[in-house]
Amino acid sequence: MSLKKRLLDIYHTLAFRLTLWYAGIFMLSACVAFFFFYLLITSVIRQQTDQALSGAVRTFSSILSDQGPEAVKRQAFIQAQAAGEKKIFFRLLYNTGQLFSSSNMSYWQDIGINRGAINRLLKSRVPIFDTIKLPDRKHKIRVLYAVIGPGMILQLGQSMENHTRIIEVFRKVFIATMVILLAVAVVVGWFMARRALVGVATVTRTARRISDGSLEKRVPVKKRADEIDQLALTFNQMLDRIESLVNRIKEMSDNIAHDLKSPITRIRGTAEVCLTSGSSLKEYEAMAAGTIEECDRLLDMINTMLFISRTEAGVNQLDCRQLDIANLVREACDIFQSPAEDKDLSMVCSGNESIGIYGDIRLIQRMVANLLDNAIKYTPANGRIEVSVSAGQDQSVQMTVKDNGMGIAAQDLEHIFERFYRCDPSRSQPGTGLGLSFARAAARAHGGDITVTSELNKGSTFVVVLPKTGPGCLS
Ligand code: ADP
Repeated sequence: MSLKKRLLDIYHTLAFRLTLWYAGIFMLSACVAFFFFYLLITSVIRQQTDQALSGAVRTFSSILSDQGPEAVKRQAFIQAQAAGEKKIFFRLLYNTGQLFSSSNMSYWQDIGINRGAINRLLKSRVPIFDTIKLPDRKHKIRVLYAVIGPGMILQLGQSMENHTRIIEVFRKVFIATMVILLAVAVVVGWFMARRALVGVATVTRTARRISDGSLEKRVPVKKRADEIDQLALTFNQMLDRIESLVNRIKEMSDNIAHDLKSPITRIRGTAEVCLTSGSSLKEYEAMAAGTIEECDRLLDMINTMLFISRTEAGVNQLDCRQLDIANLVREACDIFQSPAEDKDLSMVCSGNESIGIYGDIRLIQRMVANLLDNAIKYTPANGRIEVSVSAGQDQSVQMTVKDNGMGIAAQDLEHIFERFYRCDPSRSQPGTGLGLSFARAAARAHGGDITVTSELNKGSTFVVVLPKTGPGCLS
């Protein structure tokens, strides 16, 4: 991978963006803090300069009143020389702004007398401060105008050299600190972002492995109950669901293949025997009849599958009519009586005389038939089957098919309504594994449902509840 591509990849990561945000906010806060610190320092330094200038004014004022202007002049000279003539200067002025005396002004000749400041001073009598910046000088100059006695004004100036030096030091400290802070912010931000996103990276890795085909992989959950754990848990739950769906689809396609293969093999076998053994017309007729029978079974299976899919998708229109379900169940009992007797089973049907409902008679007949057929198939000889139908109080009808047959294991109970699901013990019996799926789809299409309770080797009870007029029959 080229360096440019690698850098682009890093640039697009969430960790990089989080780091940028973190470092940006960190630096901004530091800048704001430095700015206020800078304002504080400069105002303190200026205050100190102003206090020193005001103190000098007070001294000159008392010398003027005690010893006269000549003494002020002398004192000013002494002070200017003591501090350095490039550090401070003074001018003694008359009220008119005319010069009475000054210190050595050769270094300060660019600084004139501010007439406006003098006018303001004479009006307010309050000392006037001014800051002057000369283009060719590095340091600013703080100037004070103050009345020090009757008709006498003092212009006192001081180089703000200290101020400039402190600001310079401050700038250097600021730049150095910001560079260090930036480095720390980037390292800490990157570390924190990576740490926070490590869980997301694990989820991504797992998702990648799954897309490579390892559907059984799961994201490790750290049990910290944080957002990443929640994500991992939800992701794992989704994987569980997908895995079970994929397994069911595999199982179902295996079952379909198996169920289609057997009749086709039988048809082919019969045809082959007929062809190779030079059979008589009678044998050909028997083969044709057998083929039709097998084809009918196949068609029935395919139609049932289609019906279930269409009903579950809600695209099947019911052919609803008024029908007597008590009578319908009685008729079904009559039909199944003889196969039950063939297996030495006793079948007892009971219930109301007549219960009218709106429904699709073909679907309800087939649903009842499937339940009775199962009860007979999965109940061994000398068993007992009880069928009852009754009207509920809430505009519903309840039909129960109870047997004391082989029963269903707890782990199978939740699956028996799935297409092609057959419990292991019942594989010896004929069947496609579609009967209960059909029954449930039919019940649900009418707005009802089927439930089951069962215990292995003790028997099963299937309960169908149907509304007298279900939503499927309203349109
Ligand atoms: P099948 O064609 O196998 O009967 P069904 O969908 O009707 O398919 O039933 C699914 C499975 O549920 C059956 O294979 C059987 O294992 C179980 N089952 C259904 N009814 C009963 C019952 N009355 N007693 C015991 N097991 C039953």
